[in-house]
Amino acid sequence: MGRLDRRCPSCAGALALHRDVVGHEWRCEPCSSAGVPISRLRRERDAVAVSQLWAAGRGAGLASGLPCISCSKPSSRVTVHVPDGEASADVCARCQLAWLSDASLARIPERPRPPSLTANELPPEAKVAYAQAIVSMWRDRIREENDRERAVAVMEGVAEVVSRLAR
Ligand SMILES: [Zn+2]
Ligand SMILES: [Zn+2]
Repeated sequence: MGRLDRRCPSCAGALALHRDVVGHEWRCEPCSSAGVPISRLRRERDAVAVSQLWAAGRGAGLASGLPCISCSKPSSRVTVHVPDGEASADVCARCQLAWLSDASLARIPERPRPPSLTANELPPEAKVAYAQAIVSMWRDRIREENDRERAVAVMEGVAEVVSRLAR
């Protein structure tokens, strides 16, 4: 990482790298758009919609989209049907990266998430069950990938959850 000089394919402005426990993405605030790795979409968004997006982008073989923010080659402009209509993205099959507007991203349903923490009120058994569920969920997600950097970030997240449970 550390390649912070990526440019927006629409306005040529510098992209801001955002990082969290789920992964990373590059944002252009003026264009309300983001470059999001397919792996991140799979973690955050509905599996069916993301699979369709990726299959369409990989199979398109068209230089119909904007230049990829990573390799600068033309990406493939794809549109998939989602519950709220359609979502479009410029997908680079080589970099496994999608460039999409916030509006398109918002139309791709989110994957269910664990409930937010109100652990202080929980009885001890429930705290343990909650912690086990979180650890098990992340273990399954890490197993799907081979990304040490991400595994470390995830374990930091787990450590934070555990410390909150201890309060
Ligand atoms: Zn822009
Ligand atoms: Zn690319």
